[in-house]
Amino acid sequence: MSRTCPCCGQEGPREIPFGQAQIWVCPGCSVQWRTYDAGFVDDPVTGDEFYLSPQSIPDPASYPPFRDFFRFLKSRFGEKKLKILDVGAGNGVFLQACLAQGHEAWGIEPYEENRRYMSDEVAARVTFAPLEEVRDWGRTYEVITFWDSLMYFPDPFAELERLRPWLSEAGILHLRTNNNDDLYNRLAGLAVATRRPWGKQFFWGCFGRNMFWNFSVPGMLAMIQTNHWQLLHHQKEDTPADRLTQSLALKLAILGVYGVNRLLGTGKVATYYLCPQGPPPLAQ
Ligand SMILES: [Zn+2]
Repeated sequence: MSRTCPCCGQEGPREIPFGQAQIWVCPGCSVQWRTYDAGFVDDPVTGDEFYLSPQSIPDPASYPPFRDFFRFLKSRFGEKKLKILDVGAGNGVFLQACLAQGHEAWGIEPYEENRRYMSDEVAARVTFAPLEEVRDWGRTYEVITFWDSLMYFPDPFAELERLRPWLSEAGILHLRTNNNDDLYNRLAGLAVATRRPWGKQFFWGCFGRNMFWNFSVPGMLAMIQTNHWQLLHHQKEDTPADRLTQSLALKLAILGVYGVNRLLGTGKVATYYLCPQGPPPLAQ
């Protein structure tokens, strides 16, 4: 059966088999995605506990990704207090940061067990259910955010399409995703290409547990265009090392990778700001 890339439409993606699962790599836009045979169960991954715990972002006001985000909102909306919906609320620290900035914010989170990380004030604003089970509740938002959550949806742009009516007229989407063009991913690709015995496991590990996608910027830009969204801004970056580990040795190793990423002009994460594509603004 011939396959085509779900992002750019190029035929003949490379298949890397993993027993009952497969990773596909597009030769055109270099996006990577996973498919599973029926009955496949992913390996449990340990180490998420620290990443999820609010202690990994002890001071949300100074956390660089949040600072960038609020700076972008200010450039677009001025001082206006906004209605924000966060899909995949996780530990709720982002919602707390929105409330601290005076915005109104709500979240959707599929895992009820993440409630334990949230303050009562935040938990009361979160609907604990998979996004696909949440019906349109008649509210609209100026901003809908996906912080590290878009990769878990098998058909992410179908979800965004369903949310399009939830955006207010001047509303924007904020998507923070993985990006497979950084040093870590390149080394994993090289390990597979040179058939290192540990190469496939390393490559598999570039996807987190239950993730369907390891996105690329060209693949995302192709999907943004095909699905009639307008790109306002995008940037490549890295998650602050403090968020990932408490081990000093590991932190130094991560900072080394980030240093090379900076030299290569890339990062393991990419952020996209979109708005619905409409007619061009009228000339003044
Ligand atoms: Zn492609």
